[in-house]
Amino acid sequence: MTQTVRSAAELRSALEGPVLGPVDPGYDEARSLWNGDIDRRPALIARCASAADVAAAVKFGRERGLEVAVRGGGHAYSGTAVCDDGLMIDLSRLNAVAVDPEARTARVGGGATLADLDAATQAHGLAVTGGVISHTGVGGLTLGGGMGWLSSALGLSLDNVVGAEVVLADGRIVHAGPESEPDLFWALRGGGGNFGVVTEFVFTLHPIGPEVQVGLFFWDLAQGPAALRFCRDYIPSLPRRAGVLIAAGLTAPPLPFVPEPFHGVAGHALVVVGLDTAEAHAALIDPVRRAVPPGFEVVSPMPYTALQQLLDDSSPWGILGYEKAADLDELSDEAIAVLVEAAATKTSPMSFMPIFRLSGAFCDVGQDETAFGGSRTPHYVCNLNAVAPSPDLLAADREWVRRTWTALKPYASNAGSYVNFLSEPDADRVRASYGPATYDRLAAIKARYDPENLFHRNANIRPARQ
Ligand code: FAD
Repeated sequence: MTQTVRSAAELRSALEGPVLGPVDPGYDEARSLWNGDIDRRPALIARCASAADVAAAVKFGRERGLEVAVRGGGHAYSGTAVCDDGLMIDLSRLNAVAVDPEARTARVGGGATLADLDAATQAHGLAVTGGVISHTGVGGLTLGGGMGWLSSALGLSLDNVVGAEVVLADGRIVHAGPESEPDLFWALRGGGGNFGVVTEFVFTLHPIGPEVQVGLFFWDLAQGPAALRFCRDYIPSLPRRAGVLIAAGLTAPPLPFVPEPFHGVAGHALVVVGLDTAEAHAALIDPVRRAVPPGFEVVSPMPYTALQQLLDDSSPWGILGYEKAADLDELSDEAIAVLVEAAATKTSPMSFMPIFRLSGAFCDVGQDETAFGGSRTPHYVCNLNAVAPSPDLLAADREWVRRTWTALKPYASNAGSYVNFLSEPDADRVRASYGPATYDRLAAIKARYDPENLFHRNANIRPARQ
């Protein structure tokens, strides 16, 4: 019997959920991630069915000196959720969402997707901030931040976490909250997967929907400079109960809601989401079409769950991806010039630059209250996304992302950016993204909870020297 087969048998006997090795049916599907550019072959995949399974898998990996990778929704561009040769702890079966409508809380499995979360919470007219693509995992998204349509109204996803069940590197299962393991609780809200495996999050929920108001405006490349300059003045004027995203350099897809002459046309889009009445939203978006008449617009109420899936086709599972990001305090003329140039020079039609706005409730949270890396002042997170259906297009736009990032860097507000938008989470970039004070505090907590850095396949915080 080979070592791997023997190990698989031992792990199988310790787990309720299945354990897959390279010869087992389903292995290739289980090791695949959202980013089809990642192709790694773990020795074992533990498809955990409970926190006890996760604890057994963590102990197994640690005791045998295996590299351990943790998969939530499998969405990280970096592909840290899978490793070569080691043990992949797959949380996808831990996707239950239990809502307490009276308390307005949800207990959410560490492997749930945003679609799981939204479906369960919207059944009660409730929601919490998530990202803008519904097949993203709640786990990685929340542990690093979590920004989307609701971040101005409700703060980041992590700002709404009130507790978590965590399997630590030594295999203990603990509850982290304001009263229990408070340092761990602080570190989990921004420190990524560094501190343990979260098997369950507890979120506080808020009344949202079921219907929200959506306005989508599209300008071609020639209108780009005027449209982006308008966005610079307009976006900071929006109330906190408005969600907003600029999709710079977006190629209009051949979807039914896009007028045919615009199919395949490159340009820039602005999406403004209203959480109140259609009348209030109409007043909110009126300045957009008056300032720079768009090539086309789509203004419509829609269910909140449909909004959460609106952009799913832009980033399908298995596509090839690469990204870098920069924080911008404002859309200066110089930054706009970089975005305009980038929009005209990408190669893959699917590549684009989603620009998130962080303001409103996001800024109500103190800088030190959570371990979120970015500044708690109003700013933009500009994500440069290579999204490609083939390796040659990815290669071209990987260089496009790097070029654009280098050109944008002089106008960035700090040396780092959002840790969840790092394809290459190298040590310098991770430290820059947290800033020295937050990084050092995280490193001290890491030394207590994971001194051997078992959980290192992430935007890694190195344990402080004791
Ligand atoms: P995974 O790849 O499964 O995990 C990434 C890392 O997180 C793992 O290596 C592990 O270290 C850790 N991890 C995951 N789950 C757990 C857990 N339960 N316990 C402990 N560690 C865990 N971010 C936003 O904020 N807003 C967006 O709108 C947004 N849109 C995106 C759209 C696309 C198409 C993609 C690819 C990403 C997007 N992101 C967005 C970034 C997203 O937040 C990160 O990719 C995040 O890592 C995804 O989490 P995941 O669980 O799916 O990832």
